[in-house]
Amino acid sequence: MTRGSDRWDYRALFQDENEFEAALQELSRRAEALVARREELFKKDPEAFVAFVRELEAFTELAHRARAYAALRLAEDSESEAAQAAYAKVSNLLSELSAKLLFFETWWKNLPEEEAEPLLKAAGERYRYWLRELRAWRPYTLSEEAERAIRLKNVAARAHAKTYNVLNTRYRIVFEARGERIEAKKSELGKYTHHPDPAVRRAAYDAALALFEEEAIVLGELYRLVVQDWQNEYVKLRGFATPIAARNKMNDLPDPVVEALLQAVEAGTPVFHEYFQLKAQALGEKRLSRYDLYAPVAQAERTFSFEEALAKVERAFSAFDPEFAALARRVVEEGHVDVYPRKGKRGGAFSYGPVPGVTPYLLLNFQGEARDVATLAHELGHAIHSMLAAEHPVFTFHPPLPLAEMASTFGEILLTDALLAEEEDPALKAQILFDELDGAYATVVRQAYFARFEIAAHEKLAQGAPLSAAHEAFFETLKAQFGDAVELPEAFRFEWLMVPHFYHTPFYVYAYAFGQLLVYALYRRYREEGPAFVPRLKRLLAAGGSVPPTELLAREGFNVEDPAFWQQGFLYLSERVRTLRELLAFTSD
Ligand SMILES: [Zn+2]
Repeated sequence: MTRGSDRWDYRALFQDENEFEAALQELSRRAEALVARREELFKKDPEAFVAFVRELEAFTELAHRARAYAALRLAEDSESEAAQAAYAKVSNLLSELSAKLLFFETWWKNLPEEEAEPLLKAAGERYRYWLRELRAWRPYTLSEEAERAIRLKNVAARAHAKTYNVLNTRYRIVFEARGERIEAKKSELGKYTHHPDPAVRRAAYDAALALFEEEAIVLGELYRLVVQDWQNEYVKLRGFATPIAARNKMNDLPDPVVEALLQAVEAGTPVFHEYFQLKAQALGEKRLSRYDLYAPVAQAERTFSFEEALAKVERAFSAFDPEFAALARRVVEEGHVDVYPRKGKRGGAFSYGPVPGVTPYLLLNFQGEARDVATLAHELGHAIHSMLAAEHPVFTFHPPLPLAEMASTFGEILLTDALLAEEEDPALKAQILFDELDGAYATVVRQAYFARFEIAAHEKLAQGAPLSAAHEAFFETLKAQFGDAVELPEAFRFEWLMVPHFYHTPFYVYAYAFGQLLVYALYRRYREEGPAFVPRLKRLLAAGGSVPPTELLAREGFNVEDPAFWQQGFLYLSERVRTLRELLAFTSD
């Protein structure tokens, strides 16, 4: 690939700072114009309705552009005071303007079915799913006064999650390792639990688990409030059948689909027992200890230049589909990739496609390891997803959460396969497979069992069970997922207290398992079907967020309510485990 600069070219958003400033003026003007159409909108004339929706679309596009420009400037240099100020300015302006425009959603959401129907028809296919989704909560919406009361009370309800965060940031995990006293923040714990030295991993876990056991009296009570609040609002007031059903509705996934996913993970888990045995063997242990679950296995020395990484990704993508490779090339050629780490630059990696038709911007912190090449493929996958969905309006071109990792994970697997085929060094190949399977465990199995824990804990605590019931429920899920393959110390029963998602977004975690296992299953189909599969995947991606996820998948013949579909994902994983086994047998000769 020929490449643009390794810093971002902003011209796809705004030519310069002046144009950005002018856009902020323009946004206020457009918002006023929309407010001025309010009375006309309320007359429910189809033509006026469609005109309003189009104007709102134009406003939203410009708003996303402005936010993207400011957010990217800040990501590029978080220490710049000018960037901080610009970002604050845009955020304040947009929240002020969106509050002014809230009348549209409120009005639309509350419109009786027979009055909404002709308007929906007039708006056409392009806006259908978005407009439908805005009304999807109607059956679960209460009277205006009740909604107002909930909104006001929720300020306090969110205090549980906030308090949890505050405590979490204050905690210091203190332990001794390698003759040194270490005092780690909770956010730094991963550095020690993934440490190459087993004594460090164990000391870090023991200290953290002891701390959370001691704090259980506070954190457990906070969690009980989260459960009670969720139960009160979603089950008692809004009328959902179960606590998880409310989250499923937010994800637009039918309850049986989520249950099929969780059951399939439970049935497929033994694949990981085999994997844990291999990992134990590679670490020189008889049986893997839970302390060593994330232990790094011998690292290969091979590194990649960015040019080399690009060439690898491009080859892997074009073997799948030339358009995939061409779209990836466009991101690079247009100078939309910020490549290397730098002081003040944000860590991690992302792809940011703010509006349809603007080539997404990628942030990387490329350092040449095999993992960085995989990250490049992952983020380019996200970008391709956005670009293929560019026909849709800004409201629906982003995929919904359960489908958000479809192209990224697929791209990553394409690259992994290419590396396994092209590279010679067995140590590198083993490292790639260990990375992939560690990730698959953490994203699929661990998260699905987390969801099982949440279901059990919400049920038990809502019935007034003591906190020990939650510890027990969690320990049961650990025993179920590890079987005999992992040695499991008792102290891990308190591990759930360390998971922030349980406190601020109940039942969120299964979406990770859904997204990842979905792609493994799709990839397995690709291997079976070859080129015939390519247009199917591309149609899934091109739909963006314009169709309900399960309906979209069903259109292409994938029935996610059927556990057999999900089993395909585990077949993919068991093939990977087999490859790893062969490789390890080879390297130990
Ligand atoms: Zn991603």
